[in-house]
Amino acid sequence: MRKILVLIIEDDPACRELVKAAMLEAGRVVHVAKTLAEGAKELETARPDLIVLDRGLPDGDGVKFCLTLRKDSRYRTIPILMLTGKGEVEDRVLGLRFGADDYLAKPFDIEELMARADGLVRRGSPELAGCGDRLECGALSMDLKARQVQAGGENVQLSRMEYELLRVLLERTNIPVTRDFLLEAVWKTSSNSASHKVVDVTVMNLRKKLGALGDRIASVRGLGYKLIAPGH
Ligand code: CA
Repeated sequence: MRKILVLIIEDDPACRELVKAAMLEAGRVVHVAKTLAEGAKELETARPDLIVLDRGLPDGDGVKFCLTLRKDSRYRTIPILMLTGKGEVEDRVLGLRFGADDYLAKPFDIEELMARADGLVRRGSPELAGCGDRLECGALSMDLKARQVQAGGENVQLSRMEYELLRVLLERTNIPVTRDFLLEAVWKTSSNSASHKVVDVTVMNLRKKLGALGDRIASVRGLGYKLIAPGH
């Protein structure tokens, strides 16, 4: 099986080495870049399964870089885990809005970074991460082969869009997902205010069909939605 390739774009040597060592330990192939320019060069030669992107880099802002990647069809779907030294809530929202898939403030716990990195890779390439054919969150489960969803042991009939939307949320349990991201991932379209409404309506219908478990899909104000695991 091909190994998972991770590109780390980080100018701080201590942080870079910490992430690199943990990734190597976990059996990943690691490429590193110290600047956005180096990162862009790396992307021309190999397509990573995950980018760990520092926000403050010598030649620019990671958020802008993220946005550039999201506009480019070659890189649009590569999961991005953004790191930041600032850590304010506003920054988190900004990072997610501009296309990062997840966000960690420094100093972070390396175990947590690895867990989130695995989650993102699983989302991008399930076969690589070996997560099998099932996604689960408490009493909610999805059989990816049969395309069957169960809530509390009961089969639930979902429309294609409801199914795809739930899949995106399940793959990113406890991680806020923006409406823009959902539009792109589920409807394969880019955003405008009218299409945000489509996301909201689909979530509303999905919640209804999931019955008591529908409450697990929480609204994240000004951003989108997230699926909450039991105990969170
Ligand atoms: Ca930095």
